[in-house]
Amino acid sequence: MTSSDRGFFGHPSGLSTLFFTEMWERFSYYGMRAILILFMVAPVTAGGMGMPVPQAGAVQGTYSAMVYLMTMVGGWFADRLLGLRRSVFWGGVLIMCGHISLAFPGMGTFYSGLILVVFGTGLLKGNVSAMVGQLYAPEDTRRDAGFSIYYMGVNLGGFLGPLVSGWLAQQPAFKTMLANWGLSPEAAWHFGFGSAAVGMFFGLIQYVLGRNRFPDASNRPAGIVTAADASNARRQLLIGIAVVLLAVVGTVGLANSGAISVTPGGVATAVDLLLVVITIGLFGWMFTSADWSPDERTRLIVVAVLFLGSTIFWAGFEQGASTLNLFAARNTANTFLGWAYPSSWLQSANSAFIILFAPVVGAIWLALGRRNPSSPTKFSLGLVFLALAYAVMLTAALTGGSAKVSPAWLLGCYFLQTIGELCISPVGMSAISTLAPARVQGFMMGVWFLSISIGNKIAGRVGGLYESFSLPALFGTTGGSVLVFAVVLALLVVPIRNMLARRAG
Ligand code: GLN
Repeated sequence: MTSSDRGFFGHPSGLSTLFFTEMWERFSYYGMRAILILFMVAPVTAGGMGMPVPQAGAVQGTYSAMVYLMTMVGGWFADRLLGLRRSVFWGGVLIMCGHISLAFPGMGTFYSGLILVVFGTGLLKGNVSAMVGQLYAPEDTRRDAGFSIYYMGVNLGGFLGPLVSGWLAQQPAFKTMLANWGLSPEAAWHFGFGSAAVGMFFGLIQYVLGRNRFPDASNRPAGIVTAADASNARRQLLIGIAVVLLAVVGTVGLANSGAISVTPGGVATAVDLLLVVITIGLFGWMFTSADWSPDERTRLIVVAVLFLGSTIFWAGFEQGASTLNLFAARNTANTFLGWAYPSSWLQSANSAFIILFAPVVGAIWLALGRRNPSSPTKFSLGLVFLALAYAVMLTAALTGGSAKVSPAWLLGCYFLQTIGELCISPVGMSAISTLAPARVQGFMMGVWFLSISIGNKIAGRVGGLYESFSLPALFGTTGGSVLVFAVVLALLVVPIRNMLARRAG
């Protein structure tokens, strides 16, 4: 089932199942994400939620930050309780239920839907990639190629999702169809969300059909070897449940007594604080833990620098779905050869560019051979491309004034963002984890996801400023901040190399 199996492009046939599972999961995630902020800020009369932009940005940032934060919890569940195979299945089920909930109008269904998708993606996203790794024996040289194929599945889903959800949610032709069927055209948004549920359903069906293609190890929680492990896991689970219950009961109690009122804005601020506390806690623990040798602490400084770089990168990048999505809807002339397409289709550009250019960028690194840049250099380069993407948007905003501009600006911006992503994303997690001692590898995966989580949070907050600042100020500040850090990181490349070399010597 592993090394000898070549059923999918010379790869284990389980890769086909995981490819399509993740393709459909990303179809649902990116399909929903493409219309989320647009739905929140759309007036109630147009079927939206009529939220002020700052609140919509806060909700979007909190939602996507929690998605990435929960991958850490999802990893724990797979490792200690469910095993990978079941975690991915139940994750998919929760995601589908979340999108079904969003398919029904209402405040309650909206927030329940977001919470279900957060927990479901937490269970699925990290664990499905771990299952890809499990398909290959440790010495199997096909592993990297397997991950590249899998990454194409991710982006095929990311490409198709917004095309479907965007057409259903925004295109006048579909609204006319709804009216002809005697349904309210304003319900179009919910058909968009519904398409995400249908996609996840397809993903689950083929996952269940392909269940015998995975190694037995995927059935067992890998972290449970002895009876003591099992009782430890049970204890941790009980503590976790107690903490969550206490937090929920405490919050409800305080809200009922009138001491606090639970608002989306309040929850968003609480999550801001939570992320700060987790970051300080993680790094505080790592820097002070007695188990760490002075050499390991030196490497930890590099981890901290890369963590900051990654956070800043995702803070700019993830504005693709917030600030830039609003720019697409409000400030872009969305026509192609005279035909008007939904603004959310531009959300597919990133994935399309990844599919087209990932092989090119990969080939460039390969061709550079021994001169292949170090991870800090690639991080710095990735940030430069991101800053350039915002320079493009700054130019668009300055030259466009109040007129709608050509979609070519956004396409150029997404292209540059994508090249930046290709410099950072494929190397990020491995760079951070190779710097860390073996005993904390799983933990380092969490550190990487934490940086993406904080990045998403900031991206939502900045998107919320869309109406509070002029667009040149918004794009200029984002691009400028990214550029400053790109330069700082570039200046640190040589000191970092020397520091690591001293350590090795
Ligand atoms: N687009 C990729 C995915 O969905 C990477 C996203 C990320 O790491 N933030 O897996």
